[in-house]
Amino acid sequence: MGKSTFSYKAVLPEGVSPVQIVVDSDSGLIESVIPASTPVDESLLLFPGFFDIHVHAREFPKPPLNDAETLKKWDTVCSKEVFSSAGRAAINGGAIGFAAMPNDPIPPDNIDAYQKKALLSSQSECPTIIFASITERSEPWDELPYKVYLDIAQNRSTFSDWGVLEDSLRRYKGRRVFFHAEDPGILREYVGLPDYWKRRPPEAEIMAVDKILNLTAKIGLVSHICHVSTARTVQLINEFNATASTKVSCEVTPHHLFFSVDEKGYMAEGQRVYIKDYLLNSNPPIRSEDDRQFMVEALRTGTIHVLASDHAPHLLEEKIQGAAGMPHLDTLGPFAGWLIKNCKFSPARIAQVVSEAPTQIMAPNLPIRQGIIKEGCSGSFTVLDMSKETNIGTTNGKPGNRKLFTRCGWSPFEKISLPAYVRLTVINGASFDYSKGI
Ligand SMILES: [Zn+2]
Repeated sequence: MGKSTFSYKAVLPEGVSPVQIVVDSDSGLIESVIPASTPVDESLLLFPGFFDIHVHAREFPKPPLNDAETLKKWDTVCSKEVFSSAGRAAINGGAIGFAAMPNDPIPPDNIDAYQKKALLSSQSECPTIIFASITERSEPWDELPYKVYLDIAQNRSTFSDWGVLEDSLRRYKGRRVFFHAEDPGILREYVGLPDYWKRRPPEAEIMAVDKILNLTAKIGLVSHICHVSTARTVQLINEFNATASTKVSCEVTPHHLFFSVDEKGYMAEGQRVYIKDYLLNSNPPIRSEDDRQFMVEALRTGTIHVLASDHAPHLLEEKIQGAAGMPHLDTLGPFAGWLIKNCKFSPARIAQVVSEAPTQIMAPNLPIRQGIIKEGCSGSFTVLDMSKETNIGTTNGKPGNRKLFTRCGWSPFEKISLPAYVRLTVINGASFDYSKGI
């Protein structure tokens, strides 16, 4: 019936050029892509829609009334980030879809729990894929992304023993399995050190990735390593992929690309910053400046495949008490602008790492093809204004120009200008402009 037309300088498979894209409003599909007949705004750049494969939306289904302890957790978690707020934060940051992690008090490790959570996610205006959990006794039941957590924490979502994990993984032969990779044995040795980043040393990640690569080959998994943070980890994955028939993919977060740490404290882009230490606590932690620079180059040149946010919307009072992780959904697009302007990424490479590769990994769970601007593919786009900065809160005397939609209400990029601004997010032909609020 209706049609929407978008005339922009666009990041196409064959290069950046001014085009007119027509999207069918009913199907949400791109009907045609033709050269623009009138001049387009040179400062705006249209990408295939950004897709974030690593988000903690935190909301989970209400537990039974006789489970008082979980009910209390549900009450606190769901008074904070929920699917509706995470969805708005995603769109605000230019994302046209995201995948929600399953580390909930009631993990979605069976069809019933999974379906209840999937129903909740329909509250998100931004399309959502739900991860399923692998736990000690879980079985696969569908073509889904499955997640494994390795940690010392004792809860239903987490493995702290490699033998138990191997037994579970044998049931997931041929499945897509996403790993949080830190070796519980090494983490145990460093518990209690005063600096958070020293409690989870690079060796924990390197050891875990080495073991995961062995299990991947031994069992026959389609593995993805979440949030890689050390140079050696990336080298191990690269060496594995050189001979593997099924390649292992990996992702990196904005915080591991932007922040680093040494004995004197934290740095942003290699410069000393006076940011509160607890705000940057994350798992895996912020690494050395050498590692940070290696990560940027590896994402730019192709040995890291995906940019994923690991959006973790902890409240400031939870951060003070030591919660790990930080929010990134609202700033995803501006951060992509930083990679282009400050780190020499081409717009084509950005389209690969935050649109094409993530949507390929999630393709079995996406109804239509995304991640590429082509006839017959999804009419979902991210439009960045490359001539305007994003300031969250007052930055260098300039007032903030972008609201945060995540309910945690803070960003690690406060007081730091990111050199691009999300002008428009288009999901299957429908336009969302959150630049002035809703
Ligand atoms: Zn995570």
